[in-house]
Amino acid sequence: MPLVVSSMARSRRRAKCHRQSRVFIAGAGVAGLSAIGTAANLGAIVRANDTRGEVADQVVSLGGEFVKVDYEEEGSGGGGYAKVMSEGFQQAQREMYAKEAKQADIIITTALIPGKPAPKLITAEMVRSMKPGSVIVDMAAEQGGNCELTEPGEAVVKHGVTIIGYTDLASRLAKQSSTLYSNNLLRLTEELCKTKDGVININMEDDAIRGLTVIKDGEVTWPAPPIKLPAPPPKPAAAAVVAPAAKAHGEGGGPMSAKGLAIVFGLGALAFLLVGLYAPASFLSHFTVFVLACFVGYMVIWNVTPSLHTPLMSVTNAISSIIAVGALVQVAPPVGEVAGRPEAWIVGLAIVSIALVAINMFGGFAVTRRMLEMFRK
Ligand code: NAD
Repeated sequence: MPLVVSSMARSRRRAKCHRQSRVFIAGAGVAGLSAIGTAANLGAIVRANDTRGEVADQVVSLGGEFVKVDYEEEGSGGGGYAKVMSEGFQQAQREMYAKEAKQADIIITTALIPGKPAPKLITAEMVRSMKPGSVIVDMAAEQGGNCELTEPGEAVVKHGVTIIGYTDLASRLAKQSSTLYSNNLLRLTEELCKTKDGVININMEDDAIRGLTVIKDGEVTWPAPPIKLPAPPPKPAAAAVVAPAAKAHGEGGGPMSAKGLAIVFGLGALAFLLVGLYAPASFLSHFTVFVLACFVGYMVIWNVTPSLHTPLMSVTNAISSIIAVGALVQVAPPVGEVAGRPEAWIVGLAIVSIALVAINMFGGFAVTRRMLEMFRK
């Protein structure tokens, strides 16, 4: 680990001169998540992958980006461990890893299923494609390693890439290992005695306690039964397929049935016909511009790509910008405008609009900045 940290620090120093280092983490379990947090705190761009999709949020919360394999398959094997994936998934995963390897300065691999040999995720070809001076830390070396070129117990340089395959990383970090172990024991005692009155309660309903209990009241309770996984959330695609069918039959209490929609469109068309027949010509031309402006405005605002903290803020800023442009045109009519200056009350209203949208826009930026500052160390 000191080697990892020092090579990250080196990469970081390099990054200061040139660019941010890119770190790719394979396997986002205990070691993987810790590596993500450390690398992100050192200023690297961190990307990570795991077969268990449920860790994506944890990766993001530690400052990494979860890279998904382009293949639909549930990777959870129960109890927080992964399962062996299908050949199709592995193929898609290899393709994705090949792309990541080319860009990464550091790869840290921690992918493992207990009791199984480490999956070979980084091939010799991928190592060859990496930049000279890059580093691979294969934390799964003890079980054969996630990299084809790892030599368990050794740190070697192959194709210009340093591959660290130490199998005794924990004992190279005596202080950190002791801290982690004592922390584990402290949390365990907290779990065993939630009431903090010194009376130990072995709660067999608790998955963690049940999993580590070997004997209780003279009865052997090992091994624990498999943990029941919560039912996966229903697929939105299935709901989307059912919804139109239900709507077509006027069922399901959706927003509006097909009949209702037809009535609304019919009434709208009738209103247009009456306007066309009886309204003065000047009104008609203004009305056409108004309808087109509504349509174009809607398309412009809803297609804004969020570049601010939230999509909602981006959309409100887009609306504010359009209001600002409209108000500015009223305050200072375009050059060559022959209709003359607008009435004083219109100019006044436009000035008030500009003040209000300015508060909204600049206030929004200020609030975003303060929110981002909260996450900066
Ligand atoms: P873990 O079980 O918490 O994490 C392993 C992760 O790998 C899981 O999230 C799993 O879903 C994922 N995974 C499994 N197969 C995968 C695949 N084919 N592709 C992508 N992801 C896959 O285990 P851990 O504690 O993080 O340990 C991982 C490795 O690091 C082990 O080899 C361990 O010996 C070594 N190690 C761990 C520590 C530590 O402190 N945890 C210290 C030194 C070495």
